[in-house]
Amino acid sequence: MNYRHIYHAGNFADVLKHAVLARIIRYAKNKEKAFRVLDTHAGIGLYDLSSEEAQKTGEWRDGIGRLLKAELPAPVAELLEPYLSAIRELNPTGAIKLYPGSPKLARMLFRPQDRLSAMELHPEDYHRLHNLFEGDFQVRATQLDGWLALGAHLPPKEKRGVILVDPPFEEEGEYGRLVSGLTNAYRRFAGGTYCLWYPIKKGAPIKAFHEELQALDIPKMLCTELTVRSDRETTGLTGSGLVIVNPPFTLKDELHTMLPVLKSVLAQDRFASQRAFWLHGE
Ligand code: SAM
Repeated sequence: MNYRHIYHAGNFADVLKHAVLARIIRYAKNKEKAFRVLDTHAGIGLYDLSSEEAQKTGEWRDGIGRLLKAELPAPVAELLEPYLSAIRELNPTGAIKLYPGSPKLARMLFRPQDRLSAMELHPEDYHRLHNLFEGDFQVRATQLDGWLALGAHLPPKEKRGVILVDPPFEEEGEYGRLVSGLTNAYRRFAGGTYCLWYPIKKGAPIKAFHEELQALDIPKMLCTELTVRSDRETTGLTGSGLVIVNPPFTLKDELHTMLPVLKSVLAQDRFASQRAFWLHGE
């Protein structure tokens, strides 16, 4: 396990993932009844962008750094409000230093009745995650294989759930693991809203991944992708995607409003692109 999210926190891929996660949680709060967020690959929860590691790559500058400086059209600012207000709350002076990872962002958006189960396998990162939420009765951090949690922790006792599956993609076969993980989890809890993250880079088997998902018997599956540059001269990450099962019915329209603006803010060359479409259903 070499992957450490501190090097990438707040980058363009985090912006898409966390903006969408915040929209999903915002929507879940429309009903009074409690829900649970299951974050299978949680990371440390809170990132210091002034740390040596974050400064070394500086990835956040082309992600959240750009977004915070951008002048956003009012409808987009409104849609990004849950995400950006959490960041503003952590950085009251205006200059960004602290960036919320997915578990912290979810927690910041909770009402008193909502709950978080966060899994992290890396011993050091788990320790930091655990310390971050120590004494918070709305959160349970566990050092557990997130893929196992997808089976063992579903369905949640609240019977309402948002499940984020955000693996590091440092091993071969992670796209396939997402498909089999979703298949097993959906069998246990068909009513959950699942959000699966995947990387886009040269040679990535995205088409086959989409086809495998389409072959599953899952009726509502939305997909969104944002690439920020061409893959002609790099083998690194050029974009990212999210597959959202049982999305809020408003999400596709929201993405159509937000994505063109996110694309123009985050674009690193003229090959940047964005899309949101149904993989299955609607
Ligand atoms: N979801 C986080 C966020 O958005 O802020 C970022 C997570 S990062 C992409 C992936 C994390 O998964 C890393 O912290 C890594 O240590 C952890 N990890 C790797 N393999 C794991 C496994 N099998 N189960 C749980 N966590 C794992």
